[in-house]
Amino acid sequence: MKNNPISATIDFDKDGIQHGFLKVPYSSNTSAWGSIMIPITQFKNGDGPTALLTGANHGDEYEGPIALFNLARRNDISNISGRVIIVPAMNFPAFQSCDRVSPIDGINMNRTYPGKPDGTVTQIIADYFSRILLPMTDIALDIHSGGKTLDCLPFAASHVLDNKKQEEDCEAASKAFGAPYLLKMLELDSGGMYDSQVESMGKTFVTTELGGGGTSTPYTVEIAKRGVDNLLIHAGIMDGTLTPNLSPTVSLNMPDDRSFVCCEHRGLIEPIVSLGDMVHTGDLLAKIHNTDRTTCEPVEYFAKRDGMVIIKHAPSIVSMGDNLFVIAEVV
Ligand code: CA
Repeated sequence: MKNNPISATIDFDKDGIQHGFLKVPYSSNTSAWGSIMIPITQFKNGDGPTALLTGANHGDEYEGPIALFNLARRNDISNISGRVIIVPAMNFPAFQSCDRVSPIDGINMNRTYPGKPDGTVTQIIADYFSRILLPMTDIALDIHSGGKTLDCLPFAASHVLDNKKQEEDCEAASKAFGAPYLLKMLELDSGGMYDSQVESMGKTFVTTELGGGGTSTPYTVEIAKRGVDNLLIHAGIMDGTLTPNLSPTVSLNMPDDRSFVCCEHRGLIEPIVSLGDMVHTGDLLAKIHNTDRTTCEPVEYFAKRDGMVIIKHAPSIVSMGDNLFVIAEVV
């Protein structure tokens, strides 16, 4: 297979703190023979495991970048044993334009793994992670939030995996992250996800959803900052003791696709439930008003399972096929 065209301006084998870029060749109208410069920081102190920490896999999710830009500016790594590779914004072009997917090629980073070395910018970045960064990695944390169109309760998550030892490791690391909620997550559409790529390589993987609506809050940022340290401590890379969440973490499960409430109408959402509410099967969740005329009765959407409302559509206008709610079982 063709070599990946990205070059790193840091040396992954070198001890110490290094700040630099992943240079993605991109010749455009505004920059002939130019490059996209993705910020990267590495902390390395002797031998030990490697953690790969990423944010903005989707460009409009901010807790990850905030926590990781903060982490990258630390100037004392005497409490680190091993290596921490920090990429605050994996899909940097999308991050710069406040978009979920890249404005350059329209590709969703989290549906294009393992990527292509001779593909478009997003595919090239994905290939670099798959073939250069992940083989060096023992544990990977990818910090997501809901983005502009979803709002989520703050949770860390792991997946059901064929390899039960790996599944246990991922769940333990997710728990150590110390978010208020801990989810065993079901993906409706796992093809091309970074998650699946990391897991297929046998690595320990933690993902999160820490808020959303295209912004962040002091509360969710604090969870991300604490979670990053907790994960590094759990991995044996950082000295220290875990800082747990103030209240006991609530464990959640998504046993099947009845957790997802898909909207089959277009209109104005009148919410009946809020994030964190407990609902029973058949409970009214929302009414969708037809906004083309004033004469229509709203369409009602109901819960298909007992559980907690963990994700809701963020903008008040919804379209057909949008994710309206996600409801998880409380374990
Ligand atoms: Ca996301």
